[in-house]
Amino acid sequence: MTPGPVPMPPEALKVLSEPMEHHRTPQFQKTLAETFGKLKKCFQTQNSVFVHSSTGSGAMESALVNTLSPGDEVIVIDSGKFGQRWAKAAKAHRLRVHTHKVPWGLATEVNSVVDLLKSHPEVKAVFCQASETSTATKHPIKELALAIKKQSPQCLFLVDAITALGAMELPMDEWQLDVVVSGSQKAFMLPTGLSFIALSDLAWEYYEKSTCPKFYFDLGHEKKAIQNNETFFSTAVTHIKALNITLNQLTGDGLKKRIQRCESLASLTREFGEKIGYEVFSKAPSPAVTALLVPRGIDGAALRTHIESRYNITLMGGQDELKGKILRMGHLGHITDEDQLAGLEALGRGLMDLGDPNLTEDVLNEHLKAAQKKLMGYD
Ligand SMILES: *Cc1c(COP(=O)(O)O)cnc(C)c1O
Repeated sequence: MTPGPVPMPPEALKVLSEPMEHHRTPQFQKTLAETFGKLKKCFQTQNSVFVHSSTGSGAMESALVNTLSPGDEVIVIDSGKFGQRWAKAAKAHRLRVHTHKVPWGLATEVNSVVDLLKSHPEVKAVFCQASETSTATKHPIKELALAIKKQSPQCLFLVDAITALGAMELPMDEWQLDVVVSGSQKAFMLPTGLSFIALSDLAWEYYEKSTCPKFYFDLGHEKKAIQNNETFFSTAVTHIKALNITLNQLTGDGLKKRIQRCESLASLTREFGEKIGYEVFSKAPSPAVTALLVPRGIDGAALRTHIESRYNITLMGGQDELKGKILRMGHLGHITDEDQLAGLEALGRGLMDLGDPNLTEDVLNEHLKAAQKKLMGYD
């Protein structure tokens, strides 16, 4: 139950065990065409969505090298580990980065980004996470996009939606997002190894002028290949076949249901956590992942390891300043009601096993029963 990789549904596991087929064949091109169509629905865009055989960070680098040029001024909203990653990638490509630091666990304020744009009118792009996974925080992407476009209509807004897409509303075209990236091991319920990227018309205008060096990630190649329902380089055939299956849950009504599922698992986890002695860390909690502050006197790192070895539930801890202080439970992927209950129970039993004096068997059972009723409609 980490925020990626996540449990995979049985129908995806089945496809992943099928024999290999060649990527330049009519029957596979048909699969690819279907998959590209579903990706556009999932991203809610009229523009093409491209697939790289890379982890999500590859799509982040692709976003940057396909739109910007060395020396360009950009703003990076840094509210955690993944915000830092945007800044590092931008600096590696010699962009001039203005970092907008947001305290961990808070959502960025829209006005402060606008102020920064006002004081740096040459800024070409703003980078943000829709869901900052390291702090389990959701940013106001719709409001940010509106404000950025109002202040600087030609400024790009690049969104890392790696844990957000499929977990929250993020209609790319309607909200005027210029670049959206995601990755297969998050809401797409697949093994790690594919990343996704879509560019707005404005971002494609930037592509024409962009001078960042690029080769594998050059989307110009992919733009031509996609006309023919191909990828420019070899396609990760097996992953794509599985993606074509999991995307059925991530388009149209399926997407709405997945979003509701994430929201309900997240709110249940927050509520249950607070009842048994944790505190919700984020002030703007993400539906993709919940960060719980462990009670005073309990070592979070020891608790995480204990829950994994004793209850067979893998959670994530915190990084840097949050090391040993939080547990992160993911809500993406094929998590059944039974999995969720087992995860919640492990949160409680772990605390008792490590000697938390405030939680008793009776209290834990009472809250577990309530959680079960909420999830399954019966106790
Ligand atoms: C997982 C994640 C990434 C990084 O993806 P990799 O697949 O590990 O390269 C980037 N941003 C966010 C918000 C993530 O959750």
